[in-house]
Amino acid sequence: MIDTYDALIVGAGPAGLSAALILGRCRRRVLLCDSGSHRNSTSRAIHGLLGHEGCSPSELLAIGAKELEKYATVAHTHAEVSTIMPSNGGFRFTCTGNASGSARKVLLATGLVDEVPNLAGIGALYGRSVHHCPYCDGFEHSDQLIAVYGAGDKGAGLALMMTQWSSEVILCTGGEGTVTKAMTQRLSERGIKLFPDPIAELEGDGGRLKRIRFQNGEAVERTAMFFTTGCHQKSNLSKLLGCTRDEKGGVVTDPVTEETSVPGVYVAGDVSRDVLLVAVAAAEGAKAGVAINHALLKEDGLC
Ligand SMILES: Cc1cc2nc3c(=O)[nH]c(=O)nc-3n(C[C@H](O)[C@H](O)[C@H](O)COP(=O)(O)OP(=O)(O)OC[C@H]3O[C@@H](n4cnc5c(N)ncnc54)[C@H](O)[C@@H]3O)c2cc1C
Repeated sequence: MIDTYDALIVGAGPAGLSAALILGRCRRRVLLCDSGSHRNSTSRAIHGLLGHEGCSPSELLAIGAKELEKYATVAHTHAEVSTIMPSNGGFRFTCTGNASGSARKVLLATGLVDEVPNLAGIGALYGRSVHHCPYCDGFEHSDQLIAVYGAGDKGAGLALMMTQWSSEVILCTGGEGTVTKAMTQRLSERGIKLFPDPIAELEGDGGRLKRIRFQNGEAVERTAMFFTTGCHQKSNLSKLLGCTRDEKGGVVTDPVTEETSVPGVYVAGDVSRDVLLVAVAAAEGAKAGVAINHALLKEDGLC
């Protein structure tokens, strides 16, 4: 006997939890599957989230999961969804451990993976004094000694942006890419010194960055680093399903419904690579939940 759900939600980060909440409140049969590696797990505190400033990522997810418990039609399980295929106007799916089922609609809330620079010492600092997102963590390092790590003009662009938080900004390109003449001029106008040599090590203590040591033997005191090295999709399910992606690798969605180019498949949260914040992920999850419920009502001749 195959379990049949109104919706399969893949990923229980802020986006998936929020969609499950809306659909649970609509008394929809939902399976919410999560493989347990949300994007901000290395971070200690979420910033920029109205009403939850400073809440730890795991605490926020635990609150969300607890809130879902009162909705008997929502099953929340720890499993990785490995395949999803169109079937009989809906979808068949399998999870690790060979569990399988079918669902009328699918929501992919599977998130992204950050390409953390391969620098000695970064592991103990990432999420504490080394970050990728100035909107998330810039304020906490206001007026500190900031380093930006990024190749060529992309790194230079972030260095210019960081002057919003501190006048003490340097750019480390790690020997990658080219900083154009025009950009070099702009950096110099803002007093941003360029360090083109590869980094040997980030030195820190208790999660706090203290010093950047370069391969040429030079060292510079710094208290925070922001990097721009990119990110990619955590799951290839959108690719397997044939969802159109944009030039950045984000899944293209209808701005109102969050539906993808594949009818019946929706995405929410970082997967679309829109604004990559918890508040936006939760809002997109809610939008997708409403749109999925509306599509089901329509199919059932109820609207
Ligand atoms: C270090 C760091 C700090 C950050 N700080 C902030 C901050 O201060 N403020 C802020 O607003 N944002 C912050 N962000 C961004 C924030 O983490 C993301 O915007 C947010 O987590 C996106 O939520 P999501 O639900 O789309 O994805 P995620 O939170 O990444 O959740 C996706 C979930 O899907 C699951 N999954 C993936 N594939 C499968 C599969 N096949 N089967 C089952 N489950 C699957 C994963 O295990 C994961 O649990 C930070 C990010 C990082 C990396």
